[in-house]
Amino acid sequence: MVNEMVLKETLKYFAEQARNDFSAAEENLHKIILELKASENKGLNYIETYDEENVRTQLTQLKSSEKKGRLFGVPITVKDAICVKGVESKAGSKILTGYKPTFDATVITKLKEEGAIILAKTTQDEFGFGTFNTNTEKVPKNPFDNERSCGGSSGGPAGFTAYTSRYHGALGESTGGSIACPSSFCGVTSLTPTYGLVSRYGLIDYANSMDKVGSVGRNIDDASLLLEIISGADEKDSTNLGEEFIADEGPTQKVAIIKDFFDNCDDSVKKVVQAKIDKMKEFIQVDEIELPLNIKYSLAAYYIIATSEASTNLAKLSGLRYGKQKDPEGKHFDEYFSEIRSENFTEEAKRRIILGTFARMSGFRDAYYLKAMKVRTKLINEFKSAFSKYDLLLTPTMPIVAPKFDAIEQLTPLQNYAMDLCTVPANLAGLPHASCNAGMSNGMPVGLMAIAPHLAETRLYSFGRIMEMK
Ligand code: GLN
Repeated sequence: MVNEMVLKETLKYFAEQARNDFSAAEENLHKIILELKASENKGLNYIETYDEENVRTQLTQLKSSEKKGRLFGVPITVKDAICVKGVESKAGSKILTGYKPTFDATVITKLKEEGAIILAKTTQDEFGFGTFNTNTEKVPKNPFDNERSCGGSSGGPAGFTAYTSRYHGALGESTGGSIACPSSFCGVTSLTPTYGLVSRYGLIDYANSMDKVGSVGRNIDDASLLLEIISGADEKDSTNLGEEFIADEGPTQKVAIIKDFFDNCDDSVKKVVQAKIDKMKEFIQVDEIELPLNIKYSLAAYYIIATSEASTNLAKLSGLRYGKQKDPEGKHFDEYFSEIRSENFTEEAKRRIILGTFARMSGFRDAYYLKAMKVRTKLINEFKSAFSKYDLLLTPTMPIVAPKFDAIEQLTPLQNYAMDLCTVPANLAGLPHASCNAGMSNGMPVGLMAIAPHLAETRLYSFGRIMEMK
């Protein structure tokens, strides 16, 4: 009986209803569109681009389609950085205004093949640069308290998932924690896959050696179904591993909480996470472990590598080929590039371009970029040795609950980066992780994150099922 109830909340259940009776798809879409518009009218800012005609056309095509896929009639929102054919895709940046890709990202092709309806593009920090989704023009507001952040950089995907009461799934992107962080702040469930499990073809780059597309849903079953569909081989992405994820429940697990991450969190967060862990001890063994190298070096290594890669990626945005252009009349091309970039990048993007360019300049390269790469290997090895003893490692997803916007304004860039303490290590090591809601603290959600070895996403699924047991 309980199982039956749970099943009814899932996208799997809904798609089956829609396959049998198309009016279920029509009704759900109609209602979610009303919610989407209401969220926009209230200024909640989850939606970057929405084209009603395009959505209605997809519905009509679906109605006459022979193939009835696993996401039949399911509305999906996607982070702005993921390219959708013919739809403005600007990764939350003014500089890409007007850029409409002529192709779909592989993840979008896969979703469409399974009968999904691409509902809208969602808001994010510019190019994924941020933890609070405040580094962009359209800043999403937390559905639990509109004066607080949704988290970043995938604030829109998580915010809208928490906001809507309808069947829906979302795609996000993570370089250093951008899927887990907003999931934690908005109380939803997410899966960030092993680096290379999901194709990056058609994802607007932040830092290529760390970028991953992942899923956000209301529960682990929804997040897993989306990941099953978007994972898998893709010859268009040379870093793709050619592996597929299948959500299977595994045996009981041996897990350890990362003590030095936990100790660095706010008391309000620790309390909720500890209570949840105590409850889970009925089903799994929970030990403690320390990762001294990761706690000490991962943020520094991450911000050097991420900004180095980002600064080269952004070099192509110069007002020539993509997005914003202006009248070049009478201007030397250096002057033209500088103007376009000065006028359209946020302060945070400029900070990262300068930092990253510095870190890989000749003379400094050995001291910063190359050293960070060596440190990265050591940090991965520290995780590997922890996984020789444990199936999963646990940490609070974020050290705080979603902060108020005025508190965010007071943070220095360094304090801002320090908020990524618990999410960055797994991302730097390319390890898959899930963030699930552990409970509430003063009306705000608190997330618990599980990290698995490379390609052991099934353990995250089993863990999520235990987390969500009522
Ligand atoms: N907050 C991190 C950063 O600003 C992570 C962002 C991300 O994963 N896209 O780099």
